[in-house]
Amino acid sequence: MFRIIKSVPKSLFGKGSFNQLEEILEGMRTGTGSFFVFLVDDFFKDKPLGKRIALKGNDQLIWVNVDDEPKTTLVDKIRDEVKSKNKNTATALIGIGGGSVMDYAKAISVMLTNEGPSSKYQGLNLAKNAAVYHIGIPTLAGTGAEVSMTAVLTGPEKKLGIKGEFTPFDLIVLDPELIKDAPKNQRFYTGMDAYIHNVESMTGYNKNTISDAYAMQSQVLCREVFLNDKLTREEADEKLMVASYFGGLSIGHSEVGVCHALSYGLSYVLGYHHGIANCIAFNQLEEIYGEDVREFHFMIKKHQIDLPHNIAKGLSQDQLEKMTDTAYALEHMWKHAFGADWKKHVSREKIISWFKKM
Ligand code: NAD
Ligand code: ZN
Repeated sequence: MFRIIKSVPKSLFGKGSFNQLEEILEGMRTGTGSFFVFLVDDFFKDKPLGKRIALKGNDQLIWVNVDDEPKTTLVDKIRDEVKSKNKNTATALIGIGGGSVMDYAKAISVMLTNEGPSSKYQGLNLAKNAAVYHIGIPTLAGTGAEVSMTAVLTGPEKKLGIKGEFTPFDLIVLDPELIKDAPKNQRFYTGMDAYIHNVESMTGYNKNTISDAYAMQSQVLCREVFLNDKLTREEADEKLMVASYFGGLSIGHSEVGVCHALSYGLSYVLGYHHGIANCIAFNQLEEIYGEDVREFHFMIKKHQIDLPHNIAKGLSQDQLEKMTDTAYALEHMWKHAFGADWKKHVSREKIISWFKKM
């Protein structure tokens, strides 16, 4: 079966493009009842970027904390808060932050027009009504969340995306200047998400010519960013943003694999953010992803990246079992990596043995 892929219809790309936001929004204001919701990572509260957000009239600015990865409970809380302040439907919602804020923005824009708890919509095409117009402005590069059809959420029962027709952004603004101050470790963890997306996309059963084309070019860019010392930081940031974008498009047309399945287990039970969880898992997957993992080891050393080790040491059997439940349930990822008979290749014991190495 072939899948219909919906991606972002409009994008604005280039250093300084964030400066055009105000003008774009002005053109969208339809009258006195018109208002925008800005959803911004609270990291920027006292930073220059936070001060560049110009509110007018009834616009709402909501600072969102992403110490924990996006949760359905916070999606519902913010949706209720927006609605309680203004009975009209927002003209647009603008998300500014890393992958976590990208996912909050996508989820909240869907939930502003669909009733009930967001956990009800974790799955494929479960929302009935079109979302509020939403704009994504990433401040980290690598997740591809700016272009994906999914808003990944941790709910009461599972970590699973609200995925479908209404989830992708209507417009993204990719301004490399916004990622220029990302700290070394965070920049690497998030950047490696793109690298790992590409490896997994290209090495599984769902790959096709489109997903390969995006992944190959994204991987060329990732290698330039993390291996070519001649690039200036400015050049590297621009390439990293495009690597993230293409990597996201690649997995949209293909799928992620073993590393992401294990990484979801680490995030769900231990709370590690996606980028670092991927790095912890990928670090131990040489038997699956061979040369790419060896290149990853080289990049970790080259950039002197801190990576937690021996994290499984203090874990209870119960935690290990829960991590394994989470990973094992991600059938589409295992199928992509090993084929329809994936259960012949991967057992719960095998998954536990991978976790124990981390
Ligand atoms: P993040 O958004 O979780 O942010 C990580 C940290 O970096 C936070 O503390 C944040 O405040 C901070 N930060 C953000 N921008 C910064 C900047 N410019 N300078 C300094 N600090 C900054 O990190 P991420 O790796 O971009 O995103 C991870 C999230 O993306 C996870 O929740 C994951 O589930 C999601 N994700 C979604 C998809 C998708 O397709 N929807 C794909 C991959 C990952
Ligand atoms: Zn990822």
